[in-house]
Amino acid sequence: MSGQLLAVVEVDKADRVVCQAEGCGHSVYRRIHVVRHGDGSLGVYGSDCFDKLFGHLATKTPTYGSGDGRELTAAERLMLAENTERLIAQFEAEHQALLEQARLRREQQERLEQSAREAAARRRAEEERRRPPTPAELSSVEREAKAIVRQKYSVDPDAPGWRGLVLAEARKLLGR
Ligand SMILES: [Zn+2]
Repeated sequence: MSGQLLAVVEVDKADRVVCQAEGCGHSVYRRIHVVRHGDGSLGVYGSDCFDKLFGHLATKTPTYGSGDGRELTAAERLMLAENTERLIAQFEAEHQALLEQARLRREQQERLEQSAREAAARRRAEEERRRPPTPAELSSVEREAKAIVRQKYSVDPDAPGWRGLVLAEARKLLGR
C-alpha cells in the first residue's frame, strides 16, 4: 500500500480510535499512526497494522512531529475521532509556524553577523587610517611635498633643516 506517515499520536484510552486496517477492528490509543494514502484519503492505524501495511515505506519518520507519539489535547482528540483532516491541517499549520519561526531566527542571526562584520571592517579601516605612513608611502609623495615646501616657504627643501616640513607636507598629501 502506498502512503505517507503524517504523524504518530497518542490519546487517553477513553478516546481510543478504531484501527482502519481491513479486518483488524482493534481500538488503539497509543502510537496511533496517521497515514495519507496514495489516493489522498487519511487513515489511522495501530503500530502492528502500520508495520504490516506500510513497513516497506522508505520514510517512516512522520511529516509532523517526532515518531514518539504526540499526546493530543482534548480538542485534538475530538478532531482525530471526528475530522482527521482538520487535525492534520492543524499539524500542518503548526509545522509552517515552526518553519517561519526558524526562518525569522535565521534572519536575525544573519543580521547580527552582518553588523559584526561591518563593525570589524570599520575597526580595520580606523586602524588603517591611524597607522603612520610607511617610508615607501612617504617617498612616493616626497617630490610633490618638496615642491610644496619650496613654494610655500621659499626655502630649499633638500637642505637638512627643512626635512620636518617636507615630512609634514608628505603626510598631508597622504591624508595621515
Ligand atoms: Zn490494526
